[in-house]
Amino acid sequence: MNITQLSNKVSVSGQLTSNDISQLADMGIEILICNRPDGEAADQTSYNDIETVAKGFNIECIYLPFTMGNMDKRYIREFLKYQNAGKNIHAYCRTGRRSAHLWEEAQSQANDSSASKVDNKRSNIASERFDVLIVGGGSGGIAMASSLLKRQPKLLIAIVDPAQYHFYQPGWTMVGGGVFDVKTTRRETQDLIPDGVSWIQQSVEGFQPTENKVQLDNGSHIYYQHLVIAPGLKLDWQAVEGLSETLGKNGVTSNYRYDLAPYTWQLVTELKQGKAIFTQPLMPIKCAGAPQKALYLSADHWFKNNLLNNIDIHFYNSGGVLFGVKDYLPALESYMQKYQATLNFNQTLKKVDGENKKAWFISKDEEGNEVFNETDFDMLHVCPPQVPLDFIKHSELSDDKGWLEVDPNTLRHTRYDNIWGLGDTLNTPNAKTLAAVRKQVPVVAENITDSMNQRAMSAAYDGYGSCPLTVERGKIVLAEFGYGGKLLPTFPSWINNGLKPTKLAWFLKARMLPVIYWQGMLKGHEWLAKPIKR
Ligand code: FAD
Repeated sequence: MNITQLSNKVSVSGQLTSNDISQLADMGIEILICNRPDGEAADQTSYNDIETVAKGFNIECIYLPFTMGNMDKRYIREFLKYQNAGKNIHAYCRTGRRSAHLWEEAQSQANDSSASKVDNKRSNIASERFDVLIVGGGSGGIAMASSLLKRQPKLLIAIVDPAQYHFYQPGWTMVGGGVFDVKTTRRETQDLIPDGVSWIQQSVEGFQPTENKVQLDNGSHIYYQHLVIAPGLKLDWQAVEGLSETLGKNGVTSNYRYDLAPYTWQLVTELKQGKAIFTQPLMPIKCAGAPQKALYLSADHWFKNNLLNNIDIHFYNSGGVLFGVKDYLPALESYMQKYQATLNFNQTLKKVDGENKKAWFISKDEEGNEVFNETDFDMLHVCPPQVPLDFIKHSELSDDKGWLEVDPNTLRHTRYDNIWGLGDTLNTPNAKTLAAVRKQVPVVAENITDSMNQRAMSAAYDGYGSCPLTVERGKIVLAEFGYGGKLLPTFPSWINNGLKPTKLAWFLKARMLPVIYWQGMLKGHEWLAKPIKR
């Protein structure tokens, strides 16, 4: 074995045999990188055989093979990741030249002043070009990166997102209902960025679609071949006067925030008598059922503790119906009756005075004049108004209402062929849910792959969204529907009748879906999400 020491931590050599490993172990090698594809020559020891022996010496093995002339930034980034860990590395290929070349490129990248720091989890690249740039590392953004890598492992992908934490928002209803611990709904973003994908921890401020670049809030630009936009929507707390000042105290809460959802359950368990109000703003909102889910789980607790006769429950809805798809109304209305809840339609929350426990709703009288209705409360659960994010609304990519304008089936931008959208930011008429995102991701991943390979787009989104309505602890009405309110049940009715509350749907929501999210969707497993063909 002819070893060349490139630095005090990195050495390279030509092809190894299993007998060479003990010598590497004696040298203190901790990581062994194979840069030679298996099967290049008949007498070549396979990577698996090398790895088997190396494991016996506690040497970690990495298979990073490439042919000469085909080394791209992904390999450099991978190599830097291990080098930056400060471990003793030995890399090998047929002669050692490829491995040495990779090391040289990695050093020049590391020293490049325009790239202040490059690793595969967090990137502060001042100016860079990616095959796919993803705006937003929430549910859609992370899943998108994983799904793309499953199809094209060598893609150069970056996610731009300033957030330190990533949230499983559907869990917040369960937190507010005393079922989940809030900590299970949050993880560090850096732990979820797929290997090989760059995380640029900045905010996007604007788009220059004709130049294929986005502008970040630190003033730098990132270039792309394809852009996927998935930054969610804006919770407009400020639209209700006095609300922000009193959230989290004076009996005012919301399951729409990580820090507040536990306060909902605290209020529910503390309330023994009085008036409990639950509000719903104008559509569209994310998870249209979430405002009434908060009511059902609270009321179920009071029901089971024989408190319903002491607690006056009100649902104030800016809209005119309890739920947008009429097939689910009989089940939902029967629960509102069971909980003796008063339904107030076409009433929009405008102002809250937490200290004096008063709220004001606006409605219209028969002549169309605005009327203010004042009411008091002991507990107030607010679902905030929801609007497009400013940087989407003020960009040339939005529709006239400010949402990202895409074709509802292909999810490609209507005016720019290399721009795509996902999730809550879209102007499509589906229910804004994680369930929708789960179905949209494979569609966009397929269609981007088709576009990159000069094929016609093959995948279509049917508007699927789902809303597991937690009508009581232990039972759910699983609403699943697509564009136009068409029912799209996942299971046949003999397994789960979505129009009725079932224990199976509760089991799915409480036990299965969080696992499917963290271990499946975010890692590119597209279970029950196969796109329909165009
Ligand atoms: P998000 O997951 O919100 O991610 C957006 C990301 O973009 C964030 O990480 C943010 O930091 C980032 N970002 C924002 N601005 C910028 C910028 N300028 N630059 C870069 N990055 C940016 N769905 C269901 O299917 N079932 C349910 O039961 C359900 N219940 C819910 C209950 C509640 C209380 C809530 C709040 C939501 C619920 N949802 C449910 C909805 C679901 O969580 C969302 O629809 C889904 O998370 C949307 O994913 P997204 O990727 O579009 O946005």
